Amino acid sequence: MNVATILSLKGRDVATAKAGATLMDIAKDLATHKVGAMVVVDDVGGVAGIISERDIVRAVSETGAEVLSGDAGDHMTKNVVTCGMDDTVADLMERMTDGRFRHLPVVDSGKLVGIVSIGDVVKQRIAEAEQEAEAMRSYIATG
Ligand code: AMP
Repeated sequence: MNVATILSLKGRDVATAKAGATLMDIAKDLATHKVGAMVVVDDVGGVAGIISERDIVRAVSETGAEVLSGDAGDHMTKNVVTCGMDDTVADLMERMTDGRFRHLPVVDSGKLVGIVSIGDVVKQRIAEAEQEAEAMRSYIATG
């Protein structure tokens, strides 16, 4: 199972934000889209940053609620780790575990084309484990 297959099952929708959004704009959009992170995109569809609910919680706890009217770009992670269509579920798990984050934007030819969350990865890993168990059961049953 690779990223291309995951996207074919879950779709390519990504909640994105543009430079200039406030932290409050991002908080509202996270709630509206029921997601945990927004990808900030540049004018040509590339990834400029990522901002997750954790960044908002950190900013509010450090500065107070007034930070919500400030520029989200000041609180996003600019050095974004991404994945590509050919990466496997194991690659994604390793990258998320190493980076201690739960979202991986998918980039193809320099453009944002999807996002994979830790929930998507767990779902696919469980599906793979069930398929493996079923194959083993059928192998044993048929000798
Ligand atoms: P998350 O676990 O996705 O809520 O993110 C935890 C922290 O990692 C936040 O500071 C995010 O901005 C950052 N983060 C999330 N996804 C990525 C990513 N793919 N690359 C780099 N940083 C990320």
